[in-house]
Amino acid sequence: MKKSMFFTKGRLLAVICAALPVTLAAQTQQPPAIRSLDLTAIDRASNPCDNFYQYACGNWIRNNPIPPDQSRWGRFNELADRNLATLREILDHAADASHPRSPSIQKIGDLYGSCMDDKAVEAQGISPIEPTLERIAKLQNKSELAAEVARLHDEAVPVLFRLGSGPDAKNSSEVIAQLTQGGLTLPDRDYYLKTDPRSRELRDKYVAHVTRMFELLGSDPRNAAAQAQSVLAIETALAKVSLDRVALRDPDARYHREPVSALSTLAPGFNWKTYLAGRAVSVSDLNISVPDFIRGLNGVLDSASLDDLKTYFSWHVLNKEAELLPAKFVDEDFDFNERTLLGAKEIQPRWKRCVRLVDGDLGEALGREYVEKTFGAEGKERTLRMVHEIEAEMAKDIQNVPWMSDATKKQAVEKLHAVANKIGYPEKWRDYSSVKIVRGELVADDRRTDEFNVRHMMDKIGKPLDKLEWTMTPPTVNAYYSPPMNNINFPAGILQPPFYFKGGDEAANYGAIGAVVGHELTHGFDDQGRKFDGQGDLRDWWTAGDASNFKERADCIVNEYGNFTASGDTKLNGRLTLGENAADNGGVRLAFMALLDSMGAHALPQIDGYTPQQRFFLAYAQIWCENITDQAARNRALTDPHSLGRYRVNGVLQNMPEFEQTFGCKTGDQMVSPNACRVW
Ligand SMILES: [Zn+2]
Repeated sequence: MKKSMFFTKGRLLAVICAALPVTLAAQTQQPPAIRSLDLTAIDRASNPCDNFYQYACGNWIRNNPIPPDQSRWGRFNELADRNLATLREILDHAADASHPRSPSIQKIGDLYGSCMDDKAVEAQGISPIEPTLERIAKLQNKSELAAEVARLHDEAVPVLFRLGSGPDAKNSSEVIAQLTQGGLTLPDRDYYLKTDPRSRELRDKYVAHVTRMFELLGSDPRNAAAQAQSVLAIETALAKVSLDRVALRDPDARYHREPVSALSTLAPGFNWKTYLAGRAVSVSDLNISVPDFIRGLNGVLDSASLDDLKTYFSWHVLNKEAELLPAKFVDEDFDFNERTLLGAKEIQPRWKRCVRLVDGDLGEALGREYVEKTFGAEGKERTLRMVHEIEAEMAKDIQNVPWMSDATKKQAVEKLHAVANKIGYPEKWRDYSSVKIVRGELVADDRRTDEFNVRHMMDKIGKPLDKLEWTMTPPTVNAYYSPPMNNINFPAGILQPPFYFKGGDEAANYGAIGAVVGHELTHGFDDQGRKFDGQGDLRDWWTAGDASNFKERADCIVNEYGNFTASGDTKLNGRLTLGENAADNGGVRLAFMALLDSMGAHALPQIDGYTPQQRFFLAYAQIWCENITDQAARNRALTDPHSLGRYRVNGVLQNMPEFEQTFGCKTGDQMVSPNACRVW
């Protein structure tokens, strides 16, 4: 469980990008140093008090259409694209076996080399997944299902449900087995259940896609269509017993530590003993995060035929590996997952997809090389100072809020002082020495790294929580707060323009990386984070009155954002996005307070006609400049806890008297909310 700055990670939401021309030369052409906000992005014809997002980003939006291989294009995509070019150079060099290579370089280089070798991929056809499909085809009766599900889960094929590891929410130092809902292909359970015309049409397209994939695998068209209907039927049944995303946000609702025997009571039709033995998990208890799902799973397994379940398993094997198979599979996979669901027009070039694969499979081996090549001590040192300044502002803010009692304030400050911060990259790197990577065996290479990563996760069960571990790789343009670890994490990839201007305008730095720091810190005190204490344990440390004051203020934010339109008739979900919106609102305020305090000691000049305060807000707004397809905007409204860029700007600033003063806005202006919300 983690909360990130920008986007929910996942195949369908992957954000790596296109655009910069990249040479094969060994040296990256570094862009000229960017030292402050982007004046060319500003739309000076618009009024900052009407629509500040348009003012700060209008020209950027006009001049940066979505590249054909993207469904969304924003400032952090530009940065991710620069990072990608750097990673490509590292991997091109690592793939060159004519010079001596360390074992770690051999692995990242040969995985990349396997991926880039499209001729070998075409020549192998579907043979790399045939043994798994044959194994599934041989299942004789339902009593054999549990052992097969265990094998598939070990290979990271996401059928039926998920079993992983994670800290016990109420005793976070202990890592336990965590069982939760899963087994869907579409991005959310609502895609299966909604009955409006657009949702129905999307499901028809999904069935057509699954049909074509089975045809490519060799099924005759009629049989393939029936297979696709079986997949949809099983996934719809699973969707019906799944909790929705808003319900899953409540950490109390997800906590049910039970003896293993409870599983047989909830779902007696599945042999849990065989399954757990197959996963090499020997525990007496575990967290069953959604008991109703496991109860419902029993009905799904009972009513589906063995043949339908085998079809469903085969689909997930095929779907998981589709991007690594011959071009006809890759193209069909792109056509549905990127074109239909998200609105992209073209597939990304192969090298970008292959860099992403290595980042996903061997992320810390690649990240280590990235850090050595790019990351300076300066960015780390400046971010650390920023963190300390913003923590000090948060301590003041907690003391000053009018709605909280002294008893709760004391505990909040204790929690704040316990927040640890990690900047750049892990202190200790993951050891991949046991992973075998063989050039030319793309699917097998991917399967071996998946098995290694799954085993790494399962081996944590029963051990103390390792707070040094990261859940994002170093080149990632993102950041996160972890409630059970009570720490904030900033990968090296984000500590560059437009987030951090090395040696540049400090007012812009407060508005950009400062707001990111404030955002992550505020997550410790949003609607979910506030339920964990300084040790990372789920424990109610609030008085009843303070909790109800918090909820009242949070509801103001729920209503505000729930009225924002994503696309057409689709609005943002105020409850799904509450935590991120609260973090945005708190984060910008804390960073602004830190700017004002720092200017008490060192006044900053006017630059380019803008005061430091104005540059602060412009720099904040400009990290969110973006263009997005209608399809992707709707997808995000349903699945992403983060609001769209324009609302991350205007939704926050219309709540801030500090913004109003800075730009001379008046009551009645769009950017002055008559109903300003404030939690922190
Ligand atoms: Zn966040």
